[in-house]
Amino acid sequence: MALARSFIEVEPDSHFPIQNLPYGVFRPKRGGNPRVGVAIGNYVLDLALLDEAGYLAGTRAAAKHVFAQPTLQAFMALGRPAWNEIRAVVSSLLLADEPALRDNAGLRQTCLWLQRDVELLLPASIGDYTDFYASKAHATNVGTMFRGKENALMPNWLHLPVGYHGRSSSIVMSGTDIRRPSGQMKPPDAAVPLYGPCRQLDFELEMGWMIGTGNELGKTIPIEEAEDHIFGLVLVNDWSARDIQSWEYQPLGPFLGKNFATSISPWVVPLEALAPFRIPAQTQEPAPLPYLRQKRPCAYDIQLEVYLQSGSGGAKQQDRIAASNYKHLYWTIAQQIAHHTVGGCNLRPGDLLASGTISGDSKSSRGCMLELTWRGTEPIRLSSGEERIWLEDGDRLTLTGWCQGDGYRIGFGDVSGRILPAI
Ligand code: CA
Repeated sequence: MALARSFIEVEPDSHFPIQNLPYGVFRPKRGGNPRVGVAIGNYVLDLALLDEAGYLAGTRAAAKHVFAQPTLQAFMALGRPAWNEIRAVVSSLLLADEPALRDNAGLRQTCLWLQRDVELLLPASIGDYTDFYASKAHATNVGTMFRGKENALMPNWLHLPVGYHGRSSSIVMSGTDIRRPSGQMKPPDAAVPLYGPCRQLDFELEMGWMIGTGNELGKTIPIEEAEDHIFGLVLVNDWSARDIQSWEYQPLGPFLGKNFATSISPWVVPLEALAPFRIPAQTQEPAPLPYLRQKRPCAYDIQLEVYLQSGSGGAKQQDRIAASNYKHLYWTIAQQIAHHTVGGCNLRPGDLLASGTISGDSKSSRGCMLELTWRGTEPIRLSSGEERIWLEDGDRLTLTGWCQGDGYRIGFGDVSGRILPAI
């Protein structure tokens, strides 16, 4: 079957072909209210105006006027049948041989925005954020550094998806500058703890999924139903202050070492767009308890890359410092959702759940500085000649990711942030 094409020109390496159609929230730079759009090539299709013009008539979403809103939550809450209706309508409107929008110059003029002419906003007012720890290579590497090879994985790790409740108020859109946090730390050679700017600032290469429909408090989401609750996926950078983290984390887990900022990419890629890239998940041994057992556990073949651009000197070029893949995750999204809710915790539309650092087995596939430099003992050399152990002021860190299809890409765009000096 020939690959579907849009009348809008889309380069083969674009992240946003007609097969993707991710959702986001945007505001025209020239002014206007935030509203919901879909990315196509270098454009954003304005769903609020399309709805107003009657092109979404008959859909559940149009009946509820969910697109002229500053978040995706009202649309998310409608559930998969409503999402599928809109995806079908938008996909067909954008097809190369569909004249309704293609041949209506006035409508194209109002409904299609160049991405450079809009500001992208957080896709949801994120109520709750949970971060997991689902890469076995990452957990093993970190465990080896802190507890030795013999005790690398904690006894619970192979039996449940380890996670913690993060902070949603400091989740920021890609492009937001990140202020180096100050805090309390205790360097190994210090007799007493000290307060000051973090000296071990790190990133974490992660992916997150946004909850569409939630569950009632006291009710669980059974594992085979978990995917029905997922609206889509984004890139996540879980910025981490390693020195603050290593002093504070016992016995209750991460706190200020993580809560100063988490960056996400703007476009939420629907599960439907990722369907061709589903692959079997890693074999789990020992087999998990029945509530975590899935008939067909799946991962996704999503290529992930990390770029660092130095802010010092004349370094114009960014260096690729790691390349990983979503398939390296041990626990599946469905397992994490089933586990999250097994005690009756309620998920809500727009909640963000993230995978944890995605590291593979090879050295170049490690998803944070802590692992890439092996706790500072193996510096990264940049093309500018500089070395890095941790992130420095002025550095720009960018994560990107995509699924490679035959002649097209399902991409996530990128999530980027520049480090500002501590106050
Ligand atoms: Ca993390």
